Amino acid sequence: MSRIHRERATVREMIALYCRGNHGGSETSLCPVCSDLASYADGRLSDCPFGESKGACRSCPIHCYDDEHRILIRDVMRYSGPRMLLRRPLDAIVHLVRPGGSA
Ligand SMILES: [Zn+2]
Repeated sequence: MSRIHRERATVREMIALYCRGNHGGSETSLCPVCSDLASYADGRLSDCPFGESKGACRSCPIHCYDDEHRILIRDVMRYSGPRMLLRRPLDAIVHLVRPGGSA
């Protein structure tokens, strides 16, 4: 699987985990907010100008998320990050945002 594909799958899984724990959503049916966030994240990754050579999003100079989605995804990462560590190898984890940072 390509890096972008793997990241897209991971992000989607993290959002699903978050939605299930916080909004009563399920793996297959996310709440409207998380569903929007998932498509947004998906779009950002497919449009990533670095493509397959991209590094971790948190060390990326672009920070392509708008404010609204950045706040949402940060909550998702904070919630799902530690939980995903229990389920997946470390290298599958994406760090989209700096934990606690403002950008
Ligand atoms: Zn949700």
